[in-house]
Amino acid sequence: MKKILMIATGGTIASKEGDSGLAPAISGEELADSVPGIRDICQLTVLQLMNIDSTNMRPRQWLQIRDAIMEQYDSYDGFVILHGTDTMAYTAAALSYLIQNSCKPIVLTGSQKPMGNPYTDAKINIYQSILYAVDDASCNVNIVFNGKAVAGTRGRKQRTRSFDAFESMNFPMMAVLHDDRIIRHYMEIPPAPEDLKTYDQLNDRVFVLKLTPEAKSDIFDLLKGHYDAIILETFGIGGIPDSFEKAIFSWVDSGKTLAVTTQVPEEGCDLEVYKVGKKYSEHPRILQAGDMTTESIVAKLMWVLGQTDQSEKIKELFYTVINHDRI
Ligand code: ASP
Repeated sequence: MKKILMIATGGTIASKEGDSGLAPAISGEELADSVPGIRDICQLTVLQLMNIDSTNMRPRQWLQIRDAIMEQYDSYDGFVILHGTDTMAYTAAALSYLIQNSCKPIVLTGSQKPMGNPYTDAKINIYQSILYAVDDASCNVNIVFNGKAVAGTRGRKQRTRSFDAFESMNFPMMAVLHDDRIIRHYMEIPPAPEDLKTYDQLNDRVFVLKLTPEAKSDIFDLLKGHYDAIILETFGIGGIPDSFEKAIFSWVDSGKTLAVTTQVPEEGCDLEVYKVGKKYSEHPRILQAGDMTTESIVAKLMWVLGQTDQSEKIKELFYTVINHDRI
């Protein structure tokens, strides 16, 4: 039987209703004991790493999860992380960059309703995550939620209330799960064990700026002392108001990085299409995020800038496809 390490971090799945609202209160062991059948399909060990609302999950905690996996990597066949849904897409993306080419599956799951709720989705999500983690064809980092498996760099929390919280953005789902069956939509060749690459450095000085009509470009000056990279969520396929031109070139010419994406949820960004974008497309410190999710761009830039501050190397790492993060 395969050995699975379940790492509990909190989230709604572990929450109970208190006077001040829902907050994590149930342990990982209790969660595992609430799901019938999981100890029949794997040899399960539970590690309680933290018990927090994922609202409070930050890069420091991503590294803690990464360390917990790597410290036990050789002892287990797969890893299931119980995590709040609100920032799960960021953590899944961060783990995709911190642990690359993993032949052992790393699965994130959680629930929209707490385990104690009579209509909870927690049991099926934990069960199917373990099912996915013990399957021989699974590898790398994925979110498994509501019967879908989504590449760790392509997940987005798209709904706040329904069980169907996550979508795979601009990329097919890896698989759907029907009860005990995994139906693969995307067949991956599992990496060889020696291809594993791990990293433990992140630069968290990355900020997301969403353009709005009448946004003031001097925000770039205000951000200079605090951040090394800005992710600019432009209009449409890559529209940037003319009033931003000076501020943007001054930002990148001072040695800082800008990644350009779109605030439109689907189909990505291309600066080449319109005059209002094209003038930015050739600059070496302006990166085009294409069809990546904003969550993945945040995690990727933190990982890239944790490795280097050289613009050629930043570019090379940013444009390298990792765990299906861009086409
Ligand atoms: N606020 C919760 C969290 O992200 C929401 C959830 O888990 O569904 O931890």
